[in-house]
Amino acid sequence: MRRPLIAGNWKMNLDRTTGTALALDVVAGCAGRAGVDVVLCPPFVYLEAVGSTLRGSAIGLGAQDLYHEASGAFTGEVSAAMLLDVGCQWVIIGHSERRQLLGETNGSVLAKVRAALAAERNGHTLTPIVCVGETLAERETGRTQEVIRSQFAESLAELSEGEFARVVLAYEPVWAIGTGRVATPDQAGEVHADLRKQVADRYNAAVASEARILYGGSVKPENAGQLFAQPNIDGALVGGASLKAADFLGIIAATA
Ligand code: PEP
Repeated sequence: MRRPLIAGNWKMNLDRTTGTALALDVVAGCAGRAGVDVVLCPPFVYLEAVGSTLRGSAIGLGAQDLYHEASGAFTGEVSAAMLLDVGCQWVIIGHSERRQLLGETNGSVLAKVRAALAAERNGHTLTPIVCVGETLAERETGRTQEVIRSQFAESLAELSEGEFARVVLAYEPVWAIGTGRVATPDQAGEVHADLRKQVADRYNAAVASEARILYGGSVKPENAGQLFAQPNIDGALVGGASLKAADFLGIIAATA
């Protein structure tokens, strides 16, 4: 049985005051709620402040990216060990904004996933949330399945079964991110089903049935329930709606 997961990707938004206030509201709003994993992913510089706010709650702390090298002369970058050091349990990898605006490739995503999985500190490890998704042009030219399959093959399928079992997938159609244009439950469900089939073909049915596959792209309290009713959608990676406690909590409530 897969446990739903709702992760909030704050992107480059909020500040120390508004971020910690939002985290407090999410902690309060989730008190007593069982059966769903909730993760907040603030910008790097606010990880410690938000992590302190989350301490003692069941809400996880995630980063929005990492660098694949362990340490060294990589100005501006942050390693997996550093994320563990500030209390992260999760890390988003291969978000489409990084793929489109910051030169991320399937190869760099794979290197980052490997780095995240290899890191360990005082018994703590990182869970990567790995994003895949097609652009509007790719969807409109009937290439969605081909694009998602090649992203899976090139950024994940080289992992061993044990490594893959620690990964969460996120299907995020690029045309639905921040646009208000959400994939229909059927559109999303079709891609999720094909992704699960890719996992079963590459690994096996047991790994596929355990794999958590999130949907991301303009998820709101109003559309979340229909998306989560799809059998292969195990939660959401949420951008804009994660910046308002009421919206984010509404999405979390829709998993019940
Ligand atoms: C995202 O950034 O991962 C995302 C899904 O954004 P939004 O919810 O704003 O579309």
